[in-house]
Amino acid sequence: MTLNPIVIIGAGIGGLAAALGLQRRGFKVRVFERAVEIREIGAGLIVTANARRALKDLGLDDGLAALSSRVPVLHGCDYRTGEITRGVRNEDIEKRYGFSTLQVHRADLHGLLMAAVDRNDPAALHAGHEFASLDQTERGVNVKFVNGASIAGDALIGADGNASAVRSFVFGGEAAAFNGQVAFRALIPKERVPKAVAELQFAMHTAPRRYLLHYPLRHGEIMNLIGCGQSKAWEAEGWSIPATNDEFEQEYSDFWPELLDLIRAIPPGGLFKWGLRDREPLQRWVKGRVAMLGDAAHPMTPFLGQGACMAIEDGMLLARAFGAARDVPAALARYEAARKTRGNNVQLWSREEGLALQDPARPRKGAIELGLLDYDPVLVAV
Ligand SMILES: Cc1cc2nc3c(=O)[nH]c(=O)nc-3n(C[C@H](O)[C@H](O)[C@H](O)COP(=O)(O)OP(=O)(O)OC[C@H]3O[C@@H](n4cnc5c(N)ncnc54)[C@H](O)[C@@H]3O)c2cc1C
Repeated sequence: MTLNPIVIIGAGIGGLAAALGLQRRGFKVRVFERAVEIREIGAGLIVTANARRALKDLGLDDGLAALSSRVPVLHGCDYRTGEITRGVRNEDIEKRYGFSTLQVHRADLHGLLMAAVDRNDPAALHAGHEFASLDQTERGVNVKFVNGASIAGDALIGADGNASAVRSFVFGGEAAAFNGQVAFRALIPKERVPKAVAELQFAMHTAPRRYLLHYPLRHGEIMNLIGCGQSKAWEAEGWSIPATNDEFEQEYSDFWPELLDLIRAIPPGGLFKWGLRDREPLQRWVKGRVAMLGDAAHPMTPFLGQGACMAIEDGMLLARAFGAARDVPAALARYEAARKTRGNNVQLWSREEGLALQDPARPRKGAIELGLLDYDPVLVAV
């Protein structure tokens, strides 16, 4: 169907999943990443059955499971005492959905995707290329980069994250804005983790206006810790702003003492913070030969643990749409029809769950209660 490559902006989890799915259907892709080196930040993420079905189809699920943690129980705990208030057994998740929930180091998932794309076509990945502008006609797109390079393609996929420049260029609208929440993240080597926390493995400790979540990565070698809470002011942009253990501890000083010990155990230079950014759902995901994908289409707050999963689902459906359609406009129309409602809904549900997590008066609905794990991106109609 295509003569020129499909151009993808952003080598994050979504862009790479799309690239791999397209390559496996015989399409030539060129992926352009702003960063000088294509790599992931050190943090954890949760990969649930819906995304694992796509990863299995892409040939990566076994490799990812071999690198990751799979806790026996996902706990909810009292934030003042650590007492367990609820638990979901991973075995039950696996029985019901066919896949357990994995706790994954982002760099491991990203690395597997990147290696697979590169193996298929060593010319596919291009670092140091920041999207600048785009011209499109009925026949194709011409993309320009800040470094002066340009490329002609049959289609452009904007997979450049929650502050997407492609989205702003093509669709206009408001920029991503601070949503009043600041998150901290750290990776803590297992030797430094307090025993009681290590025994819990995976636990969400919810409190008024804040929560702490910890879970092990790489078979328990590292504990991933996330704290997220409402904050009055935040100006800086970026995922990796250094923070101090003292400021983290101060915000969470009424939490279970073992959790405060965990915060104190964060190695020097190992704590980062970021201001969560949000954008209103996009009413159209496609314009001409351009389509949005992943956080660029639906900036996902972390409250449902579904941002990476949704980006992987998008990538799979985009690839399947290209595989099923006769031409580019038909492929993009199929993709938008298959994905827009789910992506936009999950974005809004994630926002809602963020409010519920920090306000005991609101009803909570996590990914399981919302039925998100039932979705099969490999089989759903496209
Ligand atoms: C700490 C943390 C924990 C999370 N936990 C979970 C979890 O448990 N489960 C889950 O599913 N999700 C989780 N998420 C969310 C998830 O990581 C994102 O939703 C997901 O990565 C979206 O993927 P993406 O490829 O769309 O965007 P991104 O991963 O943001 O990738 C976008 C890429 O585009 C590049 N780029 C940006 N602008 C340009 C430009 N102008 N030109 C070229 N390249 C550009 C960026 O450098 C980046 O590489 C978490 C997020 C964070 C930060």
